[in-house]
Amino acid sequence: MRLIGVRDVSKDFANGVRALEGTSLDIEAGEFLSVLGPSGCGKSTLLRLIAGLAQPTAGTIDWPSGKPDLGFVFQEPTLMPWTTALANVALPLKLAGVARSQREARAAEALGHVGLAGFERSYPRELSGGMKMRVSIARALVTEPKLLLMDEPFAALDEITRRRLNTDLLDLWQRTRFTAVFVTHSVFESVFLSQRIAVMSARPGRVLSELAIPAAYPRTEAFGTSAEYAALCRLASAQLSEALAA
Ligand code: ADP
Repeated sequence: MRLIGVRDVSKDFANGVRALEGTSLDIEAGEFLSVLGPSGCGKSTLLRLIAGLAQPTAGTIDWPSGKPDLGFVFQEPTLMPWTTALANVALPLKLAGVARSQREARAAEALGHVGLAGFERSYPRELSGGMKMRVSIARALVTEPKLLLMDEPFAALDEITRRRLNTDLLDLWQRTRFTAVFVTHSVFESVFLSQRIAVMSARPGRVLSELAIPAAYPRTEAFGTSAEYAALCRLASAQLSEALAA
């Protein structure tokens, strides 16, 4: 079932920058899709248009089965520094008017899902970069959205932390089966995570090609070191080079 239809979407900014030009993309309910492209090609812009945080200049974004609740994870964890991990995660529930005891229980559960049980009372300054990003993911998932939009969430993390978070994100996705749209400029990350990769051209960006990643889940460390993974990375890399040359 198709969840999102991006149709011939262009986006011009007030300063004259054309970020996207006539791009189209279909996204299936429940899939894990990565949007791969160089910095500045309009990936964030596309994600923000899908989220409804901005409007296209031309074209449409269709929701054939209705627009679901969505969660958004930014590159920076953007936590409130003056309060606890629990209160940070509970914020969307508070804004939705959920009663205190219920929102604290649900926030604690969401922290548990991202591997942070026991850190409910910690303040952001007491947490590592990876843990802060986990809090941010828990906050995006606490309302149990059907769609999770992620904008290079792990780009600022070290390689080892990033790998852990990639694996844990996939575990979470396999358990919950939200639709995942993951923006990245990393070929390796996109191949490791996704069922499908949409490859974007340089600015003004548009989706130039798509690549299916047929490997089974769960994707373990063994997958990350396999010949299959290396071959798929080469393919994705070649498509990215073609997109840049186009
Ligand atoms: P990416 O996520 O692929 O790095 P972005 O979508 O952030 O790319 O940006 C695409 C282009 O649009 C860039 O040249 C960026 O400078 C420009 N841009 C993004 N947001 C704005 C804005 N609000 N106003 C003007 N230009 C913008």
